[in-house]
Amino acid sequence: MSDCIFCRIVQGQAPARILYRDDEVTAFHDLHPQAPVHLLIVPNRHIAGVAEVGPGDEPMLGKLFIVARRLAEEMDIGDGYRLVVNSGPLAGQSVFHLHLHLLGGRPFRWPPG
Ligand code: 5GP
Ligand code: ZN
Repeated sequence: MSDCIFCRIVQGQAPARILYRDDEVTAFHDLHPQAPVHLLIVPNRHIAGVAEVGPGDEPMLGKLFIVARRLAEEMDIGDGYRLVVNSGPLAGQSVFHLHLHLLGGRPFRWPPG
């Protein structure tokens, strides 16, 4: 989708600090980090969010977590980090291309705001 910022990043048409890329997922630094480490892991294929996932998406969904785990270790936050997926505007989703937030490098509270 040409009007989707994450599609543009995945396709190299918009700048981003990319940390990892394969044929299924791409990971890059969040533009407005909410923690010392704040990465986004996204499927390369456009899918708007959790509400749109379905049968066949299992490998891609699993890959998001595996890449998150690997990046957490590489960024030296393996002893405590938070994975977040905001689903829908009420939950704070603002970019409608599925993404997993990987946040770390500071303590986190529960429940989240
Ligand atoms: P959401 O609110 O949808 O869960 O998360 C969207 C995230 O994307 C936010 O944390 C926001 O800072 C980040 N973001 C929005 N636009 C861009 C962009 O153009 N580049 C990067 N790297 N991150 C972005
Ligand atoms: Zn997209």
